[in-house]
Amino acid sequence: APAPSYRGRFAPSPTGPLHQGSLIAALASYLDARSAGGTWLVRMEDLDPPREQAGAADAILHSLEAHGLQWDESVLWQHTRSDAYRAALEQLRTAGYLFSCNCSRAQTDPAGNCAGSCRQQTPTAPVALRVPVDKDYVAHWQDQWQGTQHWPIGHELRDFVVRRKDGLFAYQLAVVVDDHYQAISHIIRGSDLLDSTPRQLWLQSLLGCPHPRYGHLPVLTNREGQKLSKQTHAPALDDTRAGDNLRRALDYLGQAAPPEELRAPDELLPFAIEHWQPEQMPGGLSLPPHRSRTHL
Ligand code: GLU
Repeated sequence: APAPSYRGRFAPSPTGPLHQGSLIAALASYLDARSAGGTWLVRMEDLDPPREQAGAADAILHSLEAHGLQWDESVLWQHTRSDAYRAALEQLRTAGYLFSCNCSRAQTDPAGNCAGSCRQQTPTAPVALRVPVDKDYVAHWQDQWQGTQHWPIGHELRDFVVRRKDGLFAYQLAVVVDDHYQAISHIIRGSDLLDSTPRQLWLQSLLGCPHPRYGHLPVLTNREGQKLSKQTHAPALDDTRAGDNLRRALDYLGQAAPPEELRAPDELLPFAIEHWQPEQMPGGLSLPPHRSRTHL
Protein backbone atom coordinates (compact mmCIF):
# COMPACT_ATOMS: atom_id res chain seq x y z
CA ALA A 1 0.00 0.00 0.00
CA PRO A 2 1.38 3.43 -0.86
CA ALA A 3 2.62 5.44 2.09
CA PRO A 4 2.12 9.09 1.14
CA SER A 5 4.05 10.21 4.21
CA TYR A 6 7.27 8.49 3.10
CA ARG A 7 10.04 11.06 2.69
CA GLY A 8 13.52 9.79 1.94
CA ARG A 9 16.75 11.55 1.06
CA PHE A 10 20.24 11.21 -0.34
CA ALA A 11 22.72 13.46 1.47
CA PRO A 12 26.12 13.50 -0.24
CA SER A 13 29.11 15.49 0.98
CA PRO A 14 30.76 17.29 -1.96
CA THR A 15 34.23 15.92 -1.21
CA GLY A 16 34.47 14.29 -4.64
CA PRO A 17 32.39 13.03 -7.55
CA LEU A 18 29.82 10.25 -7.23
CA HIS A 19 31.40 6.77 -7.29
CA GLN A 20 29.84 3.31 -7.47
CA GLY A 21 29.50 3.08 -3.66
CA SER A 22 27.59 6.35 -3.37
CA LEU A 23 25.46 5.44 -6.40
CA ILE A 24 24.38 2.29 -4.54
CA ALA A 25 23.29 4.32 -1.49
CA ALA A 26 21.49 6.85 -3.69
CA LEU A 27 19.76 4.13 -5.70
CA ALA A 28 18.63 2.13 -2.65
CA SER A 29 17.09 5.19 -0.99
CA TYR A 30 15.51 6.24 -4.31
CA LEU A 31 13.98 2.80 -4.98
CA ASP A 32 12.72 2.42 -1.43
CA ALA A 33 11.04 5.86 -1.60
CA ARG A 34 9.61 5.48 -5.09
CA SER A 35 8.30 1.95 -4.53
CA ALA A 36 6.43 3.31 -1.49
CA GLY A 37 4.96 6.16 -3.57
CA GLY A 38 7.07 8.51 -1.49
CA THR A 39 9.06 11.70 -1.94
CA TRP A 40 12.82 11.58 -2.51
CA LEU A 41 15.05 14.54 -1.74
CA VAL A 42 18.67 15.48 -2.23
CA ARG A 43 20.54 17.46 0.42
CA MET A 44 24.03 18.73 -0.27
CA GLU A 45 26.05 18.42 2.94
CA ASP A 46 28.49 21.22 2.19
CA LEU A 47 29.34 21.98 5.80
CA ASP A 48 33.06 21.52 5.70
CA PRO A 49 34.73 23.75 3.08
CA PRO A 50 38.29 22.50 3.80
CA ARG A 51 37.26 18.95 2.83
CA GLU A 52 35.31 19.97 -0.26
CA GLN A 53 36.47 19.69 -3.82
CA ALA A 54 35.72 22.51 -6.24
CA GLY A 55 32.98 21.47 -8.66
CA ALA A 56 32.09 18.27 -6.79
CA ALA A 57 28.58 19.37 -5.77
CA ASP A 58 27.62 20.17 -9.36
CA ALA A 59 29.26 16.98 -10.61
CA ILE A 60 27.26 14.89 -8.10
CA LEU A 61 23.97 16.51 -9.12
CA HIS A 62 24.82 16.04 -12.79
CA SER A 63 25.63 12.37 -12.20
CA LEU A 64 22.39 11.77 -10.35
CA GLU A 65 20.46 13.26 -13.26
CA ALA A 66 22.47 11.26 -15.80
CA HIS A 67 21.48 8.13 -13.88
CA GLY A 68 17.81 9.15 -13.92
CA LEU A 69 17.72 9.71 -10.15
CA GLN A 70 15.48 12.76 -10.28
CA TRP A 71 14.75 14.30 -6.91
CA ASP A 72 11.63 16.12 -5.74
CA GLU A 73 11.55 19.70 -4.42
CA SER A 74 14.76 21.74 -4.54
CA VAL A 75 18.18 20.67 -3.29
CA LEU A 76 18.79 21.77 0.30
CA TRP A 77 22.30 23.22 0.69
CA GLN A 78 23.63 23.00 4.21
CA HIS A 79 25.76 26.12 3.80
CA THR A 80 22.48 28.09 3.85
CA ARG A 81 21.34 26.58 7.14
CA SER A 82 23.61 28.19 9.75
CA ASP A 83 20.76 30.03 11.48
CA ALA A 84 18.90 26.78 12.03
CA TYR A 85 22.01 25.06 13.42
CA ARG A 86 22.65 28.02 15.73
CA ALA A 87 19.06 27.86 16.97
CA ALA A 88 19.48 24.14 17.72
CA LEU A 89 22.64 24.90 19.72
CA GLU A 90 20.69 27.49 21.69
CA GLN A 91 17.96 24.95 22.38
CA LEU A 92 20.58 22.49 23.67
CA ARG A 93 22.17 25.19 25.79
CA THR A 94 18.83 26.15 27.33
CA ALA A 95 18.16 22.51 28.15
CA GLY A 96 21.54 22.32 29.89
CA TYR A 97 22.96 19.94 27.29
CA LEU A 98 25.81 21.95 25.83
CA PHE A 99 29.26 22.69 27.16
CA SER A 100 32.46 24.23 25.84
CA CYS A 101 35.61 22.21 25.48
CA ASN A 102 39.10 23.26 24.54
CA CYS A 103 40.75 19.83 24.68
CA SER A 104 43.14 19.11 21.87
CA ARG A 105 42.55 15.95 19.85
CA ALA A 106 45.41 14.33 21.77
CA GLN A 107 43.68 14.98 25.08
CA THR A 108 40.45 13.20 24.13
CA ASP A 109 40.12 9.48 24.93
CA PRO A 110 39.82 6.74 22.26
CA ALA A 111 36.02 7.13 22.15
CA GLY A 112 36.53 10.86 21.42
CA ASN A 113 35.33 12.07 24.84
CA CYS A 114 36.42 15.32 26.41
CA ALA A 115 39.19 14.73 28.96
CA GLY A 116 36.65 15.68 31.59
CA SER A 117 37.64 18.95 33.20
CA CYS A 118 36.12 21.35 30.64
CA ARG A 119 32.63 21.22 32.17
CA GLN A 120 33.96 22.90 35.30
CA GLN A 121 36.04 25.52 33.53
CA THR A 122 35.28 28.89 32.10
CA PRO A 123 36.38 28.25 28.54
CA THR A 124 38.81 30.42 26.69
CA ALA A 125 38.30 30.69 22.93
CA PRO A 126 38.58 28.84 20.63
CA VAL A 127 36.35 26.08 21.93
CA ALA A 128 34.40 23.18 20.59
CA LEU A 129 30.81 22.75 21.75
CA ARG A 130 29.91 19.30 23.02
CA VAL A 131 26.73 17.55 24.01
CA PRO A 132 26.87 15.24 27.03
CA VAL A 133 25.23 11.82 26.79
CA ASP A 134 23.30 10.55 29.82
CA LYS A 135 25.12 7.60 31.35
CA ASP A 136 22.14 5.24 31.17
CA TYR A 137 21.11 6.22 27.63
CA VAL A 138 20.59 3.28 25.28
CA ALA A 139 19.84 3.90 21.60
CA HIS A 140 17.41 1.34 20.16
CA TRP A 141 16.14 0.95 16.67
CA GLN A 142 14.95 -1.72 14.29
CA ASP A 143 17.25 -1.44 11.29
CA GLN A 144 15.87 -2.42 7.91
CA TRP A 145 18.99 -4.49 7.10
CA GLN A 146 21.08 -4.73 10.26
CA GLY A 147 18.29 -6.01 12.50
CA THR A 148 17.61 -4.99 16.09
CA GLN A 149 20.12 -2.41 17.29
CA HIS A 150 20.88 -1.81 20.94
CA TRP A 151 23.66 0.70 21.65
CA PRO A 152 24.29 1.62 25.29
CA ILE A 153 26.42 4.58 24.20
CA GLY A 154 26.10 6.40 27.52
CA HIS A 155 28.64 3.97 28.97
CA GLU A 156 31.60 4.82 26.81
CA LEU A 157 30.51 7.97 25.02
CA ARG A 158 30.30 10.72 27.57
CA ASP A 159 29.91 13.52 25.04
CA PHE A 160 30.47 14.43 21.40
CA VAL A 161 31.18 17.53 19.35
CA VAL A 162 28.34 19.49 17.75
CA ARG A 163 30.30 22.60 16.79
CA ARG A 164 33.96 22.31 16.07
CA LYS A 165 36.75 24.44 17.43
CA ASP A 166 37.19 26.01 13.98
CA GLY A 167 33.57 27.22 14.22
CA LEU A 168 32.14 24.72 11.73
CA PHE A 169 28.94 22.89 12.65
CA ALA A 170 29.44 19.17 13.09
CA TYR A 171 27.79 16.63 10.80
CA GLN A 172 25.88 15.05 13.72
CA LEU A 173 24.11 18.31 14.53
CA ALA A 174 23.37 19.41 10.97
CA VAL A 175 22.04 16.03 9.85
CA VAL A 176 19.57 15.89 12.75
CA VAL A 177 18.38 19.47 12.26
CA ASP A 178 17.91 18.98 8.53
CA ASP A 179 16.33 15.52 8.62
CA HIS A 180 13.75 17.08 10.92
CA TYR A 181 13.37 20.27 8.81
CA GLN A 182 12.80 18.17 5.69
CA ALA A 183 10.42 15.84 7.57
CA ILE A 184 12.45 12.79 6.56
CA SER A 185 10.69 9.58 7.56
CA HIS A 186 13.15 6.98 6.21
CA ILE A 187 16.95 7.17 6.14
CA ILE A 188 18.76 4.69 3.95
CA ARG A 189 22.54 4.98 3.87
CA GLY A 190 25.77 3.01 4.15
CA SER A 191 26.75 1.04 7.25
CA ASP A 192 29.79 3.26 7.64
CA LEU A 193 27.30 5.59 9.35
CA LEU A 194 25.86 2.91 11.65
CA ASP A 195 27.72 4.19 14.71
CA SER A 196 26.58 7.75 14.04
CA THR A 197 22.94 6.74 14.37
CA PRO A 198 22.96 6.40 18.20
CA ARG A 199 24.32 9.96 18.46
CA GLN A 200 21.66 11.21 16.10
CA LEU A 201 18.89 9.43 18.04
CA TRP A 202 20.18 11.06 21.23
CA LEU A 203 20.19 14.53 19.63
CA GLN A 204 16.69 13.93 18.26
CA SER A 205 15.48 13.17 21.79
CA LEU A 206 17.12 16.32 23.19
CA LEU A 207 15.73 18.52 20.41
CA GLY A 208 12.27 16.96 20.48
CA CYS A 209 12.49 15.62 16.91
CA PRO A 210 10.70 12.40 15.94
CA HIS A 211 12.98 9.46 15.10
CA PRO A 212 13.01 8.46 11.43
CA ARG A 213 13.28 4.80 10.43
CA TYR A 214 16.78 3.65 9.50
CA GLY A 215 18.25 1.14 7.09
CA HIS A 216 22.02 0.74 6.79
CA LEU A 217 23.28 -0.96 3.65
CA PRO A 218 26.25 -3.28 3.65
CA VAL A 219 29.33 -1.22 2.74
CA LEU A 220 30.75 -1.74 -0.72
CA THR A 221 34.40 -2.70 -0.43
CA ASN A 222 37.19 -3.23 -2.91
CA ARG A 223 39.21 -6.44 -3.18
CA GLU A 224 41.37 -5.38 -0.21
CA GLY A 225 38.24 -5.02 1.92
CA GLN A 226 38.51 -1.22 2.02
CA LYS A 227 35.42 0.93 1.71
CA LEU A 228 35.07 2.40 -1.75
CA SER A 229 35.55 6.10 -1.34
CA LYS A 230 37.64 8.94 -2.61
CA GLN A 231 40.29 8.05 -0.01
CA THR A 232 40.69 4.56 -1.48
CA HIS A 233 40.65 5.97 -5.04
CA ALA A 234 37.19 4.77 -5.99
CA PRO A 235 36.88 5.92 -9.59
CA ALA A 236 34.29 8.57 -10.45
CA LEU A 237 31.29 7.14 -12.25
CA ASP A 238 31.31 7.42 -16.01
CA ASP A 239 28.02 9.23 -16.65
CA THR A 240 27.99 8.03 -20.26
CA ARG A 241 27.61 4.44 -18.99
CA ALA A 242 24.71 5.15 -16.66
CA GLY A 243 22.73 2.06 -17.67
CA ASP A 244 25.65 -0.28 -16.92
CA ASN A 245 26.36 1.49 -13.63
CA LEU A 246 22.72 1.08 -12.59
CA ARG A 247 22.76 -2.62 -13.52
CA ARG A 248 25.85 -3.18 -11.39
CA ALA A 249 24.29 -1.29 -8.48
CA LEU A 250 21.09 -3.35 -8.74
CA ASP A 251 23.13 -6.53 -8.77
CA TYR A 252 25.00 -5.42 -5.64
CA LEU A 253 21.65 -4.71 -3.98
CA GLY A 254 20.58 -8.29 -4.72
CA GLN A 255 17.84 -7.15 -7.09
CA ALA A 256 16.47 -9.01 -10.12
CA ALA A 257 18.40 -8.27 -13.33
CA PRO A 258 16.26 -6.14 -15.64
CA PRO A 259 15.56 -7.67 -19.08
CA GLU A 260 18.41 -7.18 -21.61
CA GLU A 261 16.44 -4.82 -23.82
CA LEU A 262 16.16 -2.20 -21.07
CA ARG A 263 19.24 0.01 -21.52
CA ALA A 264 18.61 3.63 -20.54
CA PRO A 265 18.00 4.80 -16.97
CA ASP A 266 14.42 5.80 -17.78
CA GLU A 267 13.78 2.21 -18.89
CA LEU A 268 15.71 0.50 -16.08
CA LEU A 269 14.42 2.51 -13.14
CA PRO A 270 10.68 1.84 -13.58
CA PHE A 271 11.50 -1.89 -13.70
CA ALA A 272 13.70 -1.60 -10.61
CA ILE A 273 11.02 0.34 -8.69
CA GLU A 274 8.38 -2.22 -9.57
CA HIS A 275 10.61 -5.15 -8.57
CA TRP A 276 12.29 -3.57 -5.51
CA GLN A 277 12.76 -6.24 -2.84
CA PRO A 278 14.82 -4.79 -0.01
CA GLU A 279 14.96 -8.15 1.79
CA GLN A 280 17.00 -9.53 -1.12
CA MET A 281 20.01 -7.48 -0.02
CA PRO A 282 22.96 -9.82 0.52
CA GLY A 283 24.30 -10.31 4.04
CA GLY A 284 23.93 -7.35 6.33
CA LEU A 285 27.13 -6.24 7.98
CA SER A 286 27.32 -4.79 11.45
CA LEU A 287 30.37 -2.81 12.40
CA PRO A 288 31.57 -3.00 15.98
CA PRO A 289 31.06 0.23 17.95
CA HIS A 290 33.43 3.07 17.09
CA ARG A 291 35.20 1.30 14.31
CA SER A 292 34.35 4.13 12.00
CA ARG A 293 35.82 7.42 13.21
CA THR A 294 34.82 9.47 10.20
CA HIS A 295 32.16 11.55 11.89
CA LEU A 296 33.30 11.59 15.52
N1 GLU B 1 26.95 13.38 4.09
C1 GLU B 1 27.21 12.11 4.71
C2 GLU B 1 28.23 11.36 3.93
O1 GLU B 1 28.33 11.58 2.74
C3 GLU B 1 26.00 11.20 4.75
C4 GLU B 1 24.95 11.67 5.63
C5 GLU B 1 23.80 10.74 5.84
O2 GLU B 1 23.36 10.02 4.92
O3 GLU B 1 23.30 10.80 6.95
O4 GLU B 1 28.95 10.56 4.50
